[in-house]
Amino acid sequence: APTFTYEFKTAAYTGKTSFGTGVYIDGEFRDGSSGKTIDVINPTNGALITKIAEATPADVDTAVKAAQRALETSWGLNVSGAQRAELLGKLARLMEENLDELSAIESLDNGKTFAWAKGVDVAFSIQTIKYFAGWADKITGQTIETDEKKLIYTRHEPIGVCGQIIPWNFPLLMFAWKIAPALATGNVVVIKPSEFTPLTALRMCPLLAAAGFPPGVVNVLVGYGHTVGAAISAHMDIQKVAFTGSTLVGRKIMAAAAESNLKNVTLELGGKSPNIIFDDADLEQAVNWAAHGIFWNHGQACCAGSRIFVQAGIYDKFLAEFTKKTASINVGDPFSPGVDQGPQVSQLQYDRIMSYIDSGKAEGATVHIGGERHGTEGYFIKPTIFTDVTPEMKIVREEIFGPVGVVIKFTDEADVIRQANDSVYGLAAAVFSQNINRALETAHKLQAGTAWVNCVNQLHANVPFGGFKQSGIGRELGEYALHNYTNVKAVHVNLGHRM
Ligand code: NAD
Repeated sequence: APTFTYEFKTAAYTGKTSFGTGVYIDGEFRDGSSGKTIDVINPTNGALITKIAEATPADVDTAVKAAQRALETSWGLNVSGAQRAELLGKLARLMEENLDELSAIESLDNGKTFAWAKGVDVAFSIQTIKYFAGWADKITGQTIETDEKKLIYTRHEPIGVCGQIIPWNFPLLMFAWKIAPALATGNVVVIKPSEFTPLTALRMCPLLAAAGFPPGVVNVLVGYGHTVGAAISAHMDIQKVAFTGSTLVGRKIMAAAAESNLKNVTLELGGKSPNIIFDDADLEQAVNWAAHGIFWNHGQACCAGSRIFVQAGIYDKFLAEFTKKTASINVGDPFSPGVDQGPQVSQLQYDRIMSYIDSGKAEGATVHIGGERHGTEGYFIKPTIFTDVTPEMKIVREEIFGPVGVVIKFTDEADVIRQANDSVYGLAAAVFSQNINRALETAHKLQAGTAWVNCVNQLHANVPFGGFKQSGIGRELGEYALHNYTNVKAVHVNLGHRM
């Protein structure tokens, strides 16, 4: 399989990268079975970065066989938790040694700024792997008392071959969130990165090998959702599928799992997170966090605070300050120091977001600021705020996944909670108030897997993350994530009961 070599000469980073562009199966890059390729596009200018092998369902079969072999011979119950911890620890150290390079690849491929890629994506990926390395030798069952003539204990065994399908918004971070708990608990993995952002996952392959993971433990196949993703979710020898992406595709994955072998399913799906700002909030802080809530990662975050509810007494002041803050966001080349926002990830996402902006205009909402393309090339969109919206508008109900927020005035506390919960989604929510009782009462009433008080978008490797309602099933991160990757076996030992 060919190798991709790239020289970065940017304001933020100078260096070189080199890695295989094939399908990564059984510890090596191979040509894909179809011989076809996928174009990897630079979202900053629409230019071709490289071509990589397009994996197929036949490659999924080969990868599953390699993974099964690894499970039976070199991984799974063949290695101790301490050994798994050591390899994960080594992987984290190798990532630290390649921090700038990984960050540069992520920025080039996804369009997020180099600074954010380095400070958040790669840094948090490393933390996640270290965190789960810490769990690897602490996976324990229980002994359960029944009577003195019996010994009963539980074992938390690896599930086996796990399929993992991830999106383009945090390519390396989602890779880390998925593989780390699976490997810590002794599973083997067939992972499909997004066809839009495959490069950091491919760069990780030689690091996984260098860390000492035996061939077949992690297999990386870049292909399309309707082919490779569908093959993973319907595969008879994949015992678990973990997915992050749209609710639409999550539904298909669950259906495919049900129709094939009833594999375990965890889903991390979309959101339309409310951000409630009460009159008694610290205005400056509420403005800064609200902007971070919706504009972080160019709005391409499943937990983006896209519905901003502001109480009437503070509304005018908030809107004035929030508009100033939005206007100050520096959109441009993700490798230029001082830039806050790069391009959206792809032409497809650019078109989707622009069509949401058009629908907001057509349905009678007011573009308070933004609402148009930035520049003349690449997929840049100006940070956008809509006001004068009504609850049935598409821009209020649907996930836009771009730098587009709606600001909604409210008066009554009970009513804002009703409006906030009026969504099929329930991923995250935020509340701003200096009255601790009001803040916590509100946080407890919001239907969301994460509730932030006087902050937004806070994520930690040791804190569970996931959705209520149609935002998902299961939790990633924290101890909770381990439950997704172990089968509980109860062992009954007879110490004297006679038949
Ligand atoms: P998507 O759900 O289409 O893609 C996510 C992953 O699923 C990709 O790897 C894709 O190739 C794969 N996939 C697509 N169709 C599949 C199928 N039939 N079977 C199995 N796998 C399949 O998301 P997208 O196209 O990248 O973005 C669309 C929308 O998804 C966004 O606008 C946003 O609303 C949402 N999204 C949410 C998250 C999140 O973190 N919750 C992340 C990315 C996208």
